[in-house]
Amino acid sequence: METLSRADIESFSRSLDRARRVTVVSHTHPDGDAAGSTAALFSYISERRGKDVKVILPDYPSDTLLFLCDNVIFASDHAKEAEAWIEGSDLIILIDANELRRTEQLESLIRASSAQRILIDHHVGPERESFSLVFSETEVSSACELLFWILMEMPDIKADAAALPHDAARALLSGMTTDTNNFANSVFPTTLEMASRLLEAGVDRDDILDHLYNRYRENRIRSMGYMQSECMRITPKGAAYMIVTKEIQERFDIREGETEGLVNVPLAIGKVRISILLKEDEGHFRVSIRSKRGTSARELAKSRFHGGGHEMASGGKLYFPEDIPSPTDAAAYIENVTDDFLK
Ligand code: 5GP
Ligand code: MN
Repeated sequence: METLSRADIESFSRSLDRARRVTVVSHTHPDGDAAGSTAALFSYISERRGKDVKVILPDYPSDTLLFLCDNVIFASDHAKEAEAWIEGSDLIILIDANELRRTEQLESLIRASSAQRILIDHHVGPERESFSLVFSETEVSSACELLFWILMEMPDIKADAAALPHDAARALLSGMTTDTNNFANSVFPTTLEMASRLLEAGVDRDDILDHLYNRYRENRIRSMGYMQSECMRITPKGAAYMIVTKEIQERFDIREGETEGLVNVPLAIGKVRISILLKEDEGHFRVSIRSKRGTSARELAKSRFHGGGHEMASGGKLYFPEDIPSPTDAAAYIENVTDDFLK
């Protein structure tokens, strides 16, 4: 990680001092990094800075992440409350998203507000023009890691992880753990240093792992088995894809977040270079893409699925009838675009 600028750190700290009411937001379909980084900001800003702060998320994460969401307003079913809080805020912090667009229905409220806007993110291509202060660093595992190193520079923390509120420390280790897929991807020397300092500060990693990975519903495991055995296709050029149709979602009662991680599985096959998971939604498929080194998931997400993300882990959308006439044309679309993309 490049060193954080002293001027930016001081500016962030001054903004927190000045703020009366703070909104912390992250992206739609929040993952562990979004839930963890917003929870950590909440604990730090409320407990150490004594400010009135709320986390607002566009919609719900998977049930296994709800232990990080005690202080969240979910805009999907508390729209009025979310709107009023944003309108009354004088500081808005967006974390774990590179563009305001990724907050979906919150974007227009945030743009209409006169509050100062700060961005903390680890994706490429941050939307700098919409924020007065930007912490953007791609050489870290997660937004949680970037936030950890920012908090270490704060005057009241003085590089001592034990000075973080306990909930913040736990949330940071949780979000980093999910974004690295439990230390399997995007691990930097600084990532291990962060983990080491948080463990030393007394964070219970076994408890975090139990929350994150040992509390799934049975149907998640059964539906993942079904998808791998019956629905995974592999093209001659090494693109693996799976389509989780509405019918399959209903049959297995698949809920939000319950296909998380499935897209990684086909990469374990030697000949697979890129893996694509499509999950049917209203008028579109949500698209998850993972690739091996040398193949850019991000390029494919950007050029064919209206999305983006990281070099080897990206996402986007496939709309019908705009991109394909109907949901049943998704497989042919993927075969075509990957045949063209994988030279
Ligand atoms: P996932 O496949 O886990 O949903 O997302 C993987 C990565 O792609 C994440 O870093 C996420 O931020 C990014 N991503 C997912 N969906 C979208 C999208 O619709 N647009 C953009 N720009 N990035 C996305
Ligand atoms: Mn992230």
